[in-house]
Amino acid sequence: MERLQKMIAQSGMTSRRKAEQLIIEGKVKVNGEVVTKLGTKVSSQDKIEVEGIPLEHEEKVYYLFYKPRGVISAVSDDKGRKVVADYFGDVAQRVYPVGRLDYDTSGLLLVTNDGEFANLLMHPRYEIDKTYIAKVDGIPSKLELKQLEKGIRLEEGITAPAKAKLLSADKRKKKAIVQLTIHEGRNRQVRRMFDKIGYPVEKLRREAYGTLTLKGLNAGEKRELSPHEVKTLR
Ligand code: URA
Repeated sequence: MERLQKMIAQSGMTSRRKAEQLIIEGKVKVNGEVVTKLGTKVSSQDKIEVEGIPLEHEEKVYYLFYKPRGVISAVSDDKGRKVVADYFGDVAQRVYPVGRLDYDTSGLLLVTNDGEFANLLMHPRYEIDKTYIAKVDGIPSKLELKQLEKGIRLEEGITAPAKAKLLSADKRKKKAIVQLTIHEGRNRQVRRMFDKIGYPVEKLRREAYGTLTLKGLNAGEKRELSPHEVKTLR
Protein backbone atom coordinates (compact mmCIF):
# COMPACT_ATOMS: atom_id res chain seq x y z
CA MET A 1 0.00 0.00 0.00
CA GLU A 2 1.14 3.49 -0.83
CA ARG A 3 -0.05 6.99 -0.02
CA LEU A 4 -2.32 8.33 -2.74
CA GLN A 5 -0.28 11.48 -3.41
CA LYS A 6 2.91 9.43 -3.70
CA MET A 7 1.29 7.04 -6.16
CA ILE A 8 0.18 9.98 -8.31
CA ALA A 9 3.62 11.62 -8.20
CA GLN A 10 5.31 8.32 -9.05
CA SER A 11 3.24 8.00 -12.18
CA GLY A 12 5.08 11.02 -13.54
CA MET A 13 1.87 12.95 -13.92
CA THR A 14 2.82 15.71 -11.49
CA SER A 15 4.83 16.57 -8.38
CA ARG A 16 3.86 15.28 -4.94
CA ARG A 17 2.84 18.77 -3.81
CA LYS A 18 0.64 19.31 -6.85
CA ALA A 19 -0.86 15.87 -6.31
CA GLU A 20 -1.78 16.84 -2.74
CA GLN A 21 -3.44 19.98 -4.03
CA LEU A 22 -5.44 18.01 -6.59
CA ILE A 23 -6.62 15.61 -3.87
CA ILE A 24 -7.69 18.46 -1.58
CA GLU A 25 -9.52 20.08 -4.47
CA GLY A 26 -11.56 16.90 -4.98
CA LYS A 27 -10.09 16.15 -8.38
CA VAL A 28 -8.94 12.63 -7.58
CA LYS A 29 -11.10 9.52 -7.63
CA VAL A 30 -10.25 6.11 -6.24
CA ASN A 31 -12.43 3.30 -7.62
CA GLY A 32 -14.94 5.84 -8.82
CA GLU A 33 -15.23 7.75 -5.52
CA VAL A 34 -13.81 11.24 -4.91
CA VAL A 35 -11.14 11.11 -2.19
CA THR A 36 -10.06 14.34 -0.48
CA LYS A 37 -8.18 12.88 2.47
CA LEU A 38 -4.41 13.20 2.09
CA GLY A 39 -2.49 10.05 2.82
CA THR A 40 -5.29 7.68 1.85
CA LYS A 41 -3.64 4.32 1.25
CA VAL A 42 -4.01 2.79 -2.16
CA SER A 43 -2.53 -0.19 -3.96
CA SER A 44 -1.74 -0.82 -7.61
CA GLN A 45 -5.05 -2.70 -7.79
CA ASP A 46 -7.01 0.49 -7.11
CA LYS A 47 -8.31 2.45 -10.06
CA ILE A 48 -7.08 6.01 -9.65
CA GLU A 49 -8.28 8.89 -11.78
CA VAL A 50 -6.90 12.42 -11.73
CA GLU A 51 -9.20 14.98 -13.31
CA GLY A 52 -10.87 12.10 -15.10
CA ILE A 53 -7.62 10.68 -16.45
CA PRO A 54 -6.70 7.17 -15.26
CA LEU A 55 -3.26 6.70 -13.74
CA GLU A 56 -1.39 4.09 -15.61
CA HIS A 57 0.77 1.74 -13.62
CA GLU A 58 3.66 1.94 -15.96
CA GLU A 59 6.94 0.24 -15.36
CA LYS A 60 9.53 2.87 -14.40
CA VAL A 61 12.31 3.31 -16.93
CA TYR A 62 15.49 5.37 -16.77
CA TYR A 63 17.64 6.41 -19.70
CA LEU A 64 20.85 8.31 -20.25
CA PHE A 65 20.52 10.30 -23.46
CA TYR A 66 23.13 12.22 -25.43
CA LYS A 67 21.11 15.21 -26.57
CA PRO A 68 22.39 16.69 -29.82
CA ARG A 69 22.50 20.46 -30.33
CA GLY A 70 19.35 21.86 -31.90
CA VAL A 71 16.94 19.73 -29.87
CA ILE A 72 14.44 21.03 -27.30
CA SER A 73 14.49 19.38 -23.85
CA ALA A 74 10.76 18.63 -23.93
CA VAL A 75 8.19 16.15 -25.15
CA SER A 76 6.58 18.49 -27.65
CA ASP A 77 7.18 21.87 -29.22
CA ASP A 78 4.52 24.20 -30.61
CA LYS A 79 6.97 25.48 -33.21
CA GLY A 80 7.60 21.98 -34.55
CA ARG A 81 11.26 21.85 -33.61
CA LYS A 82 12.96 18.56 -32.80
CA VAL A 83 12.35 17.42 -29.22
CA VAL A 84 13.91 14.83 -26.92
CA ALA A 85 10.79 12.63 -27.15
CA ASP A 86 11.48 12.18 -30.88
CA TYR A 87 14.40 9.96 -29.88
CA PHE A 88 12.21 7.76 -27.66
CA GLY A 89 9.63 6.60 -30.19
CA ASP A 90 10.72 3.00 -29.58
CA VAL A 91 10.07 3.28 -25.82
CA ALA A 92 6.57 2.25 -24.74
CA GLN A 93 6.50 4.44 -21.61
CA ARG A 94 5.73 8.16 -21.70
CA VAL A 95 9.13 9.51 -20.79
CA TYR A 96 10.38 13.06 -20.38
CA PRO A 97 13.70 14.75 -19.59
CA VAL A 98 14.89 15.46 -16.04
CA GLY A 99 15.58 19.18 -16.18
CA ARG A 100 16.73 20.92 -19.31
CA LEU A 101 19.67 21.61 -21.52
CA ASP A 102 19.47 24.65 -23.78
CA TYR A 103 18.48 24.15 -27.41
CA ASP A 104 22.09 24.83 -28.43
CA THR A 105 23.68 22.75 -25.68
CA SER A 106 24.46 19.11 -26.30
CA GLY A 107 25.17 16.40 -23.79
CA LEU A 108 23.94 14.23 -21.00
CA LEU A 109 20.28 14.29 -20.15
CA LEU A 110 18.40 11.82 -17.98
CA VAL A 111 15.07 10.72 -19.36
CA THR A 112 12.48 8.84 -17.33
CA ASN A 113 8.79 8.32 -16.59
CA ASP A 114 9.45 8.36 -12.83
CA GLY A 115 8.10 11.72 -11.73
CA GLU A 116 9.20 11.43 -8.16
CA PHE A 117 12.75 10.60 -9.18
CA ALA A 118 12.77 13.55 -11.59
CA ASN A 119 11.40 15.94 -8.96
CA LEU A 120 13.99 14.77 -6.46
CA LEU A 121 16.94 15.30 -8.82
CA MET A 122 15.70 18.71 -9.88
CA HIS A 123 15.31 19.95 -6.33
CA PRO A 124 17.86 22.71 -5.61
CA ARG A 125 18.94 20.98 -2.40
CA TYR A 126 19.92 17.94 -4.40
CA GLU A 127 23.48 18.86 -5.21
CA ILE A 128 24.61 16.61 -8.02
CA ASP A 129 27.79 17.67 -9.81
CA LYS A 130 27.29 18.47 -13.46
CA THR A 131 30.34 18.85 -15.63
CA TYR A 132 30.29 20.99 -18.75
CA ILE A 133 32.83 21.46 -21.51
CA ALA A 134 32.65 24.97 -22.89
CA LYS A 135 34.37 26.41 -25.93
CA VAL A 136 34.72 30.09 -25.17
CA ASP A 137 35.77 33.15 -27.10
CA GLY A 138 39.04 34.36 -25.56
CA ILE A 139 41.38 32.69 -23.12
CA PRO A 140 40.48 33.18 -19.45
CA SER A 141 43.34 33.69 -17.00
CA LYS A 142 43.92 31.62 -13.88
CA LEU A 143 42.45 34.44 -11.83
CA GLU A 144 39.32 34.57 -13.96
CA LEU A 145 38.86 30.81 -13.64
CA LYS A 146 39.21 31.27 -9.87
CA GLN A 147 36.38 33.78 -10.05
CA LEU A 148 34.16 31.14 -11.65
CA GLU A 149 35.09 28.78 -8.84
CA LYS A 150 34.46 31.22 -6.02
CA GLY A 151 31.11 32.47 -7.32
CA ILE A 152 29.75 34.82 -9.93
CA ARG A 153 27.16 37.43 -9.12
CA LEU A 154 24.13 36.75 -11.34
CA GLU A 155 20.86 38.69 -11.11
CA GLU A 156 19.36 36.14 -8.71
CA GLY A 157 22.45 35.84 -6.52
CA ILE A 158 25.97 34.49 -6.30
CA THR A 159 26.67 31.08 -7.79
CA ALA A 160 27.79 28.29 -5.46
CA PRO A 161 31.41 27.12 -5.43
CA ALA A 162 32.38 25.42 -8.68
CA LYS A 163 35.42 23.84 -10.29
CA ALA A 164 36.99 25.28 -13.41
CA LYS A 165 39.88 23.93 -15.45
CA LEU A 166 41.46 25.16 -18.65
CA LEU A 167 41.67 22.10 -20.92
CA SER A 168 43.25 23.77 -23.93
CA ALA A 169 43.89 27.18 -25.45
CA ASP A 170 44.35 28.23 -29.04
CA LYS A 171 46.42 31.40 -28.80
CA ARG A 172 46.23 32.14 -32.51
CA LYS A 173 42.43 31.92 -32.73
CA LYS A 174 42.01 33.21 -29.16
CA LYS A 175 39.64 30.41 -28.11
CA ALA A 176 39.74 28.14 -25.10
CA ILE A 177 38.16 24.90 -23.94
CA VAL A 178 37.19 25.05 -20.27
CA GLN A 179 35.76 22.34 -18.05
CA LEU A 180 33.32 23.69 -15.50
CA THR A 181 31.67 21.61 -12.77
CA ILE A 182 28.68 23.10 -10.98
CA HIS A 183 26.00 21.55 -8.82
CA GLU A 184 23.27 24.10 -9.29
CA GLY A 185 20.95 24.17 -12.26
CA ARG A 186 19.92 27.73 -12.87
CA ASN A 187 18.65 28.72 -16.26
CA ARG A 188 21.54 29.12 -18.75
CA GLN A 189 23.87 29.19 -15.79
CA VAL A 190 27.11 28.20 -17.48
CA ARG A 191 26.61 30.63 -20.35
CA ARG A 192 25.76 33.45 -17.96
CA MET A 193 28.77 32.72 -15.73
CA PHE A 194 31.15 32.92 -18.69
CA ASP A 195 29.37 36.02 -20.02
CA LYS A 196 29.98 37.71 -16.68
CA ILE A 197 33.74 37.20 -16.87
CA GLY A 198 33.79 38.33 -20.50
CA TYR A 199 34.24 35.02 -22.34
CA PRO A 200 31.06 34.18 -24.25
CA VAL A 201 30.35 30.48 -24.73
CA GLU A 202 30.38 29.39 -28.35
CA LYS A 203 29.71 25.71 -27.78
CA LEU A 204 28.54 23.86 -24.72
CA ARG A 205 28.28 20.17 -23.86
CA ARG A 206 27.30 18.49 -20.61
CA GLU A 207 29.81 15.73 -20.14
CA ALA A 208 28.85 14.26 -16.77
CA TYR A 209 25.99 14.11 -14.29
CA GLY A 210 27.12 12.78 -10.93
CA THR A 211 29.13 9.66 -11.75
CA LEU A 212 27.39 9.18 -15.10
CA THR A 213 29.19 10.19 -18.28
CA LEU A 214 28.54 10.17 -22.02
CA LYS A 215 31.10 7.39 -22.50
CA GLY A 216 30.18 5.04 -25.33
CA LEU A 217 27.39 7.21 -26.73
CA ASN A 218 27.23 9.40 -29.81
CA ALA A 219 24.93 12.41 -30.09
CA GLY A 220 21.34 11.22 -30.49
CA GLU A 221 21.97 7.87 -28.80
CA LYS A 222 20.61 6.56 -25.50
CA ARG A 223 21.07 3.67 -23.12
CA GLU A 224 19.12 2.39 -20.16
CA LEU A 225 20.58 3.00 -16.73
CA SER A 226 21.31 -0.05 -14.62
CA PRO A 227 19.39 -0.34 -11.33
CA HIS A 228 22.69 0.36 -9.58
CA GLU A 229 23.20 3.59 -11.52
CA VAL A 230 19.69 4.71 -10.62
CA LYS A 231 20.41 3.98 -6.97
CA THR A 232 23.60 6.03 -6.96
CA LEU A 233 21.58 9.08 -8.05
CA ARG A 234 18.86 8.80 -5.44
N1 URA B 1 24.15 25.96 -18.46
C1 URA B 1 23.83 26.56 -19.61
O1 URA B 1 24.18 27.70 -19.83
N2 URA B 1 23.15 25.86 -20.52
C2 URA B 1 22.74 24.58 -20.35
O2 URA B 1 22.11 23.99 -21.22
C3 URA B 1 23.08 23.99 -19.14
C4 URA B 1 23.77 24.70 -18.20
